[in-house]
Amino acid sequence: MTQIIAGLVGSRTTRIYCAPDCSAARRIAIQNRVAFRDAGEALAEGYRVCKLCLRGGRLVDEGSRTVAPA
Ligand SMILES: [Zn+2]
Repeated sequence: MTQIIAGLVGSRTTRIYCAPDCSAARRIAIQNRVAFRDAGEALAEGYRVCKLCLRGGRLVDEGSRTVAPA
């Protein structure tokens, strides 16, 4: 078993990030894995949220979330 330390796992080839327990995350080849602390870090690197994670409620789409002005 590969131990995942960071909060999120991304794929260098698809530019998509996942929760570590997502089935898609487990399929990412070791050499293509990128670790992120949180969604903000992943988004800053140009990654998009995994659709399986969205549907499963593991992650929310923070990239399209509208933030109300203060
Ligand atoms: Zn996923």
